[in-house]
Amino acid sequence: MNSMICQCCGLPFSPKARGTNRDQSKSAEYCYDCFKDGEFRDHHMSIQDMEKKLLEMARHHDGLCLEEAEAAIRKLPDLKRWKMTHIL
Ligand SMILES: [Zn+2]
Repeated sequence: MNSMICQCCGLPFSPKARGTNRDQSKSAEYCYDCFKDGEFRDHHMSIQDMEKKLLEMARHHDGLCLEEAEAAIRKLPDLKRWKMTHIL
């Protein structure tokens, strides 16, 4: 099975790292770091905050390198979570 791209952070995640819906089923769209029990972990996060978070993770070598962070950042405007905020 191919890894999925989280529609919030833009990072690939494995089926094991899927977020959880309110009914505790697994989300097909969001990873566990972003989505838990049917809600985003950080409601107030903006797309700019997410960019900062990804770069920060890369800086601390927290699971991804700078190239991966930049690739994820390029995807952000097309992701489900940020599409609407982008139009406004
Ligand atoms: Zn995510």
